[in-house]
Amino acid sequence: MAAEIIDQANELVEQNISQAIQRMRIDRNGISAEQCSECGEDIPAQRRAAVPGCQTCAECQGIIELKRRRRGM
Ligand SMILES: [Zn+2]
Repeated sequence: MAAEIIDQANELVEQNISQAIQRMRIDRNGISAEQCSECGEDIPAQRRAAVPGCQTCAECQGIIELKRRRRGM
């Protein structure tokens, strides 16, 4: 009986891990914009690789985050 419970628990853990990996894969495949949606400048390949799914260059991202913070205050 105990062994059965452990088997079921292991199965659940494995399911959770594979689901988490799948979610990570989806995020990693997030389409990064080649050009900034704010200023139209090319987004460096390094940034696109580091921030999957990014839509803006680092400079505009900083401005957006600043505006968000101001709005929050
Ligand atoms: Zn920009």
